[in-house]
Amino acid sequence: ERIVEIEKFSAEETVETSLRPEGWGDYIGQEQIKKNLGVFIEASKKRGEALDHTLFFGPPGLGKTTLALIIANEMGSSIKVTAAPMIEKSGDLAAILTNLEEGDILFIDEIHRLSPAVEEILYPSMEDFRLDIIIGSGPAAQTVKIDLPRFTLIGATTRAGMLSNPLRDRFGMNFRMNFYHPEELSRIIMQAAEKLGKPIKHDAALEIARRSRGTPRIALRLLRRVRDFADVADEATITHERTVYALNELGINAHGFDEMDLRLLELLVQAKGRAMGLSTIAAALSEDEGTIEDVLEPYLLANGYLERTARGRVATPKCYDVLRLTPPAEQSG
Ligand code: ATP
Repeated sequence: ERIVEIEKFSAEETVETSLRPEGWGDYIGQEQIKKNLGVFIEASKKRGEALDHTLFFGPPGLGKTTLALIIANEMGSSIKVTAAPMIEKSGDLAAILTNLEEGDILFIDEIHRLSPAVEEILYPSMEDFRLDIIIGSGPAAQTVKIDLPRFTLIGATTRAGMLSNPLRDRFGMNFRMNFYHPEELSRIIMQAAEKLGKPIKHDAALEIARRSRGTPRIALRLLRRVRDFADVADEATITHERTVYALNELGINAHGFDEMDLRLLELLVQAKGRAMGLSTIAAALSEDEGTIEDVLEPYLLANGYLERTARGRVATPKCYDVLRLTPPAEQSG
């Protein structure tokens, strides 16, 4: 099987790749998605057809790329991995598409970032497996049509809302990825620890899980750091005590908040119950609005620490609670 990874991986990501689950068996959680995908994969295999184009959306690090690789594995297909920012011109996409073979999978991460010109090329490719290339310009312009093999496009995005309607409509299936429960994350951590040759106690794994923002990528990163502490202390199996010590040393909050979460929540708390607009928050934190909406807010929203109202964001009573503060008497939201 041929796997072409167009993306360049950093050293940290290479380690991450080696911890990647290879089949459904070690892909933990996201049960509904696995169940449905299993049916659709089996059906298309039975019919000897390529799988329908599939879209995954949700916050980063929840396992979208991993799912795409598992699908390829299950389908017995080759997969090309790329990201929208790497496809600058329509010619780039044309080159990728014409190099695909029947049944291949093309994975495009951050698919909401495709330029309109590139998207334009993608529509007929997805729908009719046909490439329309315009040669020349003005009245002399000609359209050349090239037939493409039947391939499957798997798109991933942190923001389904940013996808243009015509693009979204061309995906036969779309799946929303959910944050993981601590119990699921702890299984992911224990499995990865086995693969790293450094077993971890269940209560220790659960401790990391609770502080990982419901996100496998964060959980695995913390596991590697905790393992460093255990290695230095010559501890063969990572214990709960060592884990708590390491996480505290690393400044990882007991509620799983990272520094940015805390800055955002503190900002809202300082507003004393007044709602705060996205642009105001972005300016105050020197972050772009997209990062706040896609990366920061989903976890805080999902866990009830902040609320979006028509007038902006407000801290919830639960938020005041974990920050050990008293909510303002009257929230004018
Ligand atoms: P992005 O969209 O930012 O690329 P992603 O959602 O594609 O992120 P992945 O790169 O697939 O995230 O996953 C991050 C890491 O977490 C990988 O190392 C992967 O092995 C691990 N992982 C993700 N989901 C699971 C899971 N359900 N079970 C086990 N490991 C997982």
